[in-house]
Amino acid sequence: IKKIAVLTSGGDSPGMNAAIRSVVRTCAYMELECVAIYRGYQGMIEGDFKEMDARSVNNIINKGGTVLKSARCEEFRTKEGRQKAYEQLRKHNIDAFVVIGGNGSFTGALLFNKEFGFPVIGIPGTIDNDILGTSYTIGFDTAINTVVEAIDKIRDTASSHNRLFFVEVMGRDVGHIALNAGVGAGAEEILIPEQNLGLERLLDSLKRSKKSGKSSSIVIVAEGDKTGKNVFELKEYVEEHLPIYDVRVSVLGHIQRGGSPTCFDRVLASRMGVKAVEALRQGKSNYMVGIRDTKLVLVPIEEAISAHTAIDEELIRVSDIMTT
Ligand code: ATP
Repeated sequence: IKKIAVLTSGGDSPGMNAAIRSVVRTCAYMELECVAIYRGYQGMIEGDFKEMDARSVNNIINKGGTVLKSARCEEFRTKEGRQKAYEQLRKHNIDAFVVIGGNGSFTGALLFNKEFGFPVIGIPGTIDNDILGTSYTIGFDTAINTVVEAIDKIRDTASSHNRLFFVEVMGRDVGHIALNAGVGAGAEEILIPEQNLGLERLLDSLKRSKKSGKSSSIVIVAEGDKTGKNVFELKEYVEEHLPIYDVRVSVLGHIQRGGSPTCFDRVLASRMGVKAVEALRQGKSNYMVGIRDTKLVLVPIEEAISAHTAIDEELIRVSDIMTT
C-alpha cells in the first residue's frame, strides 16, 4: 500500500478532525501518500480529492465538525455509484481508504470492498455511541459533556422556580447519551428507547420527588423513548395528571453535535487514526478500529454493523438508586 485516502461520512461528530489529523500524520510518518476526500462518498464519486501532508492538518485537533465536510450520498447506495467511486480511486492511484463515520458508512465500505476487493478500515465517529464492538465512539464523550453542561444550567433556573423540565436529547434508537448524561447531571428520571417504564412510574416518581422536598426536577427524554409521547406531549400529560408541577420543555438539538472535542475524544481519535493506518499497512481490511478495556482492537465491520450496543444495565441500576 502506497497511497491512502481518508473521508468523513454520515452525521458529523466532535473529534472527527482529530481523527483526520491522525490518519494524515501517520501516513506522513510512515512515508505513505495521503489523500483527503471531501463530502464523504459523494466526493468520492465526484473525485473531490486533495493531496495531504503533515502540515495540511495544522490547528484542527481542537475544532468540532469535520474540515472535510460530510454528506449523505444516495448514489453510493447504487452499484453504478460505487463503480464511479472505484474509478475515481483507481484514477488517483489510491490503494485503500479509511472512513470515519457510523453504521451506514461502514455498511457502504463493506459493500464496496466485497465488490472491488478494495481495502477499507473504519473509525467510529458518532455521538450516539451505538456501534457494536467498541466501548466508545469518537464524539460521544464531548456530546455527553455538552448535555451535562446544558442541564446544569437548566437546573439553576428550574430550582429557582420549583419547576419540572423535560429535556430532550439525541438518541432515536439508543439511550446512551440520555443515560450517561442523565446520571452525570443527576436527572430524576431518564426515558430511553431500550426501556418502557410506563407513564405511571413517571408520575409516581415525580410525586415522590415533590413529597421528599426536591426543589426542581429534570427528566431526560431520548428522542426515541418508548412512552409514545414526545417532550411536549409529556408536558401536557403531567400538567393534566399532576397539576402540582409547573412544567417546561427544553430540546437541546444540534448543540449536542458541535463544539470543541474533549481531551478524551481527541486522544481516542489520535489513537484510532494510527491504528487504522497500521492495519492497512499490515494488509488488513474490513475492520473497524474499536476500544475495549482501554486497549485498541480491530473489530470485523460485519460484526460492528450487526446490531446496536446494548444499554448498560448496571448504569440503569445506578440511576435508579440515585433517584431515590
Ligand atoms: P450516523 O451516525 O450519522 O447515522 P452513518 O455513517 O450511519 O452516520 P448514514 O447516513 O447512515 O450515516 O450513512 C452515510 C452514507 O453511507 C450514506 O449517505 C450512503 O452514502 C452510505 N451508505 C449507507 N448505507 C449504505 C448501504 N446500505 N449501501 C451503500 N452505501 C450506504
